[in-house]
Amino acid sequence: MEITSQSIGELHELLVTKRISAVELAQTMLQRIKHIDPEVQAFLQVTEDVALGRAAQVDEKIARGEEIGALEGIPMALKDNLCTEGIRTTCSSKMLENFVPPYSATAVEKLKSAGAILLGKLNMDEFAMGSSTENSGFFATHNPWDLERVPGGSSGGSAAAVAAEEAVYTLGSDTGGSIRQPSSFCGVVGLKPTYGAVSRYGLIAYASSLDQIGPITKTVEDNARVLREIVGHDHRDSTSVPFEIPNYAEFLNKDIKGLRIGVPKEYFAKGLDEGVKTVLHEALATLEGLGAIVEECSLPHTEYAMPAYYLIATAEASSNLARYDGVRYGYRAENTEDVLSLFKKTRSEAFGSEVKARIMLGTYALSAGYYDAYYLKAQKVRTLIQNDFNQAFDRFDVLLSPTAPTTAFKIGEKSGDPLTMYLSDVCTVPINLAGIPSLSLPAGFVDGMPVGMQLMGRPFAEGTLYRVAHAFEQNTDFHTRKPSLIKGGAR
Ligand code: GLN
Repeated sequence: MEITSQSIGELHELLVTKRISAVELAQTMLQRIKHIDPEVQAFLQVTEDVALGRAAQVDEKIARGEEIGALEGIPMALKDNLCTEGIRTTCSSKMLENFVPPYSATAVEKLKSAGAILLGKLNMDEFAMGSSTENSGFFATHNPWDLERVPGGSSGGSAAAVAAEEAVYTLGSDTGGSIRQPSSFCGVVGLKPTYGAVSRYGLIAYASSLDQIGPITKTVEDNARVLREIVGHDHRDSTSVPFEIPNYAEFLNKDIKGLRIGVPKEYFAKGLDEGVKTVLHEALATLEGLGAIVEECSLPHTEYAMPAYYLIATAEASSNLARYDGVRYGYRAENTEDVLSLFKKTRSEAFGSEVKARIMLGTYALSAGYYDAYYLKAQKVRTLIQNDFNQAFDRFDVLLSPTAPTTAFKIGEKSGDPLTMYLSDVCTVPINLAGIPSLSLPAGFVDGMPVGMQLMGRPFAEGTLYRVAHAFEQNTDFHTRKPSLIKGGAR
């Protein structure tokens, strides 16, 4: 098997037995990026010197006979809304085109201490607003399975880089589906942890009551390994929750006999592609075959999740993005007359149209006279949605649905129609409103394009999601298929 196809565990084995050095491994990945990224365009920036420098340190450690950790020497990459000290962090926006953070995000710092090798920063929708990565202020990323299609978004670069084997794993962020939907479109495993499980210190804020950072990987086991390194309480993020960190690996290789899986009927409603529906039904049959008890259930307020999400997310975004004013961060317009024209010109010139639309929507929803009718009402809907999930989890261990109603669409197909674009998150946004963990994993293919299934669990029950996902993965071969773009790969 090619080096770039290997899992974290396999690469760790190669490193400790000295069959490959960390520098050789980093060089192999950098070569792959040079070779393939002109087509995929997942990377905004490749940090070759950082990668080789850190890899050399890992090699010295191995040479001294010291033990290395599970992620030590393993090459990875980061969504470009995660602050990296001394390394440009753009959020795919002209606003932050030249922003070099003076500090790193906690999740990034944790991975660095774990010996991760940073290959670079990845493309995304500007300020994480979008579902296709076409809203990037710089360029669109292409789906490795079909270069004419989108990789999903907003963590499109993060999912495409893993699918194209340009990084062993990546981090993304998920406000309404931005880890899971691109993972589904690119045929990889993506987890949105419980709200509060991973510190968001140093994650450039989009909608603070919804944002979470999570891992995107080739396999379920890899995902569990990365999650373990990034979770945990952080006093620098007041929304992070103190909890005992489980050893997620203990949930792997367990059977799922008698485990109760609820299938919310609202997620199989109109708008769901027939091919995707068939894949999901086959997946459910596989899980039943493994001994799980599968039953239909209802989350009755699902249809209100979308409008509530787009009010809450835009309201929070309008407040979070107020800080980009040409004074403190990033871009500053020239030839302005006074402070108001500085604000106006800076924001007009540097924000893209989707970001502007959302700021306007959010500001409107928060304005005097409209607050009760929109924002407050949306918050009440949010409580109803949380109650739906609480009730379902009285009966079920996990819930299962498609991650997205379709497979990856063509580049340009939806960019002129925001509403149909928003609908690609119809299955993922309720989860962020509820704050629960959710994982997307490869469940099959329709016309050569990957289909993801979404598992949802109780707060902090990531381990249960891994247990079900791993059982499914070990009994199917979808995760072993590769895009034909990858040399030697077969569909
Ligand atoms: N597509 C959704 C949005 O645009 C979700 C984005 C995200 O999760 N960051 O808001």
